[in-house]
Amino acid sequence: MEKQWKRPHRLVLVPCPFQGHINPMLHLGYILHSKGFSITISHTQFNFPNTANHPDFHFLPIVDGFSDRVVSSGNFIDVISSFNNNCRAPLEESLALVMETREYDGEITCIIYDEYMYFAAAVAKHLKLPSIILRTSSAIHDLTYNAIPGLLKDGHISTQDADPILLESVPGLHPLRFKDLPITNFKSINDLLQLIANAHETRTSAAIIWNTMDCLEGKSLAQLQQQSQVPLFAIGPFHKIAPAKSCSILEEDTNCIEWLDKQACNSVIYISLGSIASMDKKELAEMEWGLANSQQHFLWVVRPDPTTTCSEWTDSLPEGFIEAIGERGCIVKWAPQKEVLAHGAVGGFWSHCGWNSTLEGLCEGVPMICQPYFGDQWVHARYLTQVWRTGQEWGDNMERGEIERAVRRLIVDKEGKEMRQRAVHLKEKIDICMSEGGGSYNSLYELVGYILSLKIA
Ligand code: UDP
Repeated sequence: MEKQWKRPHRLVLVPCPFQGHINPMLHLGYILHSKGFSITISHTQFNFPNTANHPDFHFLPIVDGFSDRVVSSGNFIDVISSFNNNCRAPLEESLALVMETREYDGEITCIIYDEYMYFAAAVAKHLKLPSIILRTSSAIHDLTYNAIPGLLKDGHISTQDADPILLESVPGLHPLRFKDLPITNFKSINDLLQLIANAHETRTSAAIIWNTMDCLEGKSLAQLQQQSQVPLFAIGPFHKIAPAKSCSILEEDTNCIEWLDKQACNSVIYISLGSIASMDKKELAEMEWGLANSQQHFLWVVRPDPTTTCSEWTDSLPEGFIEAIGERGCIVKWAPQKEVLAHGAVGGFWSHCGWNSTLEGLCEGVPMICQPYFGDQWVHARYLTQVWRTGQEWGDNMERGEIERAVRRLIVDKEGKEMRQRAVHLKEKIDICMSEGGGSYNSLYELVGYILSLKIA
């Protein structure tokens, strides 16, 4: 559907300023822009994206006043609270001003905000604008969150969970085990409950958009729709529906694509733990020798550790390692991941199972080794290994012999080939879901109609 109206409708998008949240929001912007909407990205100064890469969008900075201490504390709840406490007034003021001065070429039709930037719902209400929530994780992760208050009430979990139940199934959430619940990285269950209450409250919002698809999560989406007062639109995978120029905050090292061009089909394992998770020094050393001993080719993202004083980021690797692997390995600080996963040479993905990485791997039919660290990653790892069966579970033992065997199993052995076949089959289903008449295609069509029907109060 191309522009069908005289005055363009403008959408204001409010991403949460982390890489795994910025990517889907910008991609959503491209999808809706392709349907004729004008797009304004209202972004914190912290982690501001490179606007030169997105000339189709207007950018409206939010003066955030964040303290580095809170942002670098790593305490997710404090960081999210800080975003919500600091950003409401600046967003409200800047939007009120642009509405008053008619600075834009169209009226603001709706605010679409990341679920963790829930202050935007209050801003929308105050300005009498409709709002829509974007959830950037999976539907199954959301179902898991919704189940936690009930699990607590029924005594299935408590703040003093003991080890023996960790491997037992969670009632109503098969095949998830207690160890897969996204509860372990919070200071207390009460903190988590507060986060769920804030982010999962639909407030005055008119709908929820999901970066997922019914061919992958149909059952979970149907359950969520039953629990929800507002319509859900599953229109993923965003990055395939509207490919965008890089949304990376860090600079991508594109040399690795040239290196991949020289490798045989399905011969390379790509290792990346996303933008937040990282291995400690000991794990890095085991990984290095596990990879070297596997005799397989690898492309490895090693993000520089901001706390070390190494002049060269590769100083964190053991002496002689780079020379020892020669042409067999390529190590970068940050990769153009979507391009890497779509490259024919990549035969496997060692991943932390963040939702974007999970989707990006599934969309390219790449089997995975699943090494979750925190939050939703546990849920996705379990689904990859047990439901979609395109991944193998990584245990806790970061030991070079285990790593060598896991890599060979994925790239060389029959088990890996079978996983790859299943992954390719799933990729075909995802392709159908995105094309005309497919679930995501239809939901997007409905979403556009729904946004245009929203009434400004
Ligand atoms: N990514 C990238 N280059 C890298 C590593 C990651 O572009 O070297 C991108 C990846 O494609 C994904 C995002 O960073 O879109 C990470 O999001 P994800 O949800 O997988 O994990 P998070 O970083 O939120 O833990």
